[in-house]
Amino acid sequence: MSITIHQFPCLSDNYGFLVRDDATGQAACIDTPDAAAILRELNSLGWTLTHILNTHWHPDHAGGNAEIKAATGCTVVGPAEVERIGTAPDQVVADGDVVMLGETTFAVLDTGGHTLGHVSYVDAADDVAFVGDTLFALGCGRLFEGTPQQMWTSLAKLTALPDQTAVYCAHEYTASNARFALSVDADPALKARADTIFAAREKGEWTVPTSIGLEKATNPFLRAPLLRPDIADPAEAFGAVRAAKDSFQG
Ligand code: ZN
Ligand code: FE
Repeated sequence: MSITIHQFPCLSDNYGFLVRDDATGQAACIDTPDAAAILRELNSLGWTLTHILNTHWHPDHAGGNAEIKAATGCTVVGPAEVERIGTAPDQVVADGDVVMLGETTFAVLDTGGHTLGHVSYVDAADDVAFVGDTLFALGCGRLFEGTPQQMWTSLAKLTALPDQTAVYCAHEYTASNARFALSVDADPALKARADTIFAAREKGEWTVPTSIGLEKATNPFLRAPLLRPDIADPAEAFGAVRAAKDSFQG
């Protein structure tokens, strides 16, 4: 069992991801930030798209569905909320479902909080997770629709994955996340990681994918209970760090 992942920048700060199941050649795109860019990349790789896997309904994640489906005839898989951008998915998925891409199995996790119906796709055999706007390198999604409790529960599902799991987040927000992280956490491991991130971004290098182990060690949202020992409830401690980021002027 193996997959090949092709990553490319889209729009101002999104990443596009194309995934091919090597055994069968079936290919999926994770979200559809930019239909033209995705179709161009598919063409240059010579891959045939069979699936779109949407994480949530936001236009920078599902806005290209209609154009890509029209061009390729692929099957659109996503949470029911994707209907909000105009067309319902062909296959609606929810927590506990499984999506097959050829011989590759993606487990669907409900990771609501950024939006209510946000899902993540986990290929445990290959230690890969596509997490949309739930978890970012040194960050997490803004709570547009959900509560701190809901997002904390969602993040806990991701941190329960093995440390070596590669985390494909949907945006390159890492340098800005690092500036906030340094403002709330003096941990030396964070400082070292932030230095690496600033140097990488200076050279235009990508900081995605990250890993579950790296995020557990340095992400201030996951470390919220440690950073806010004054708040007994972990979800409330998370909510306090999230609120601080929302008003952070970095
Ligand atoms: Zn979003
Ligand atoms: Fe987004």
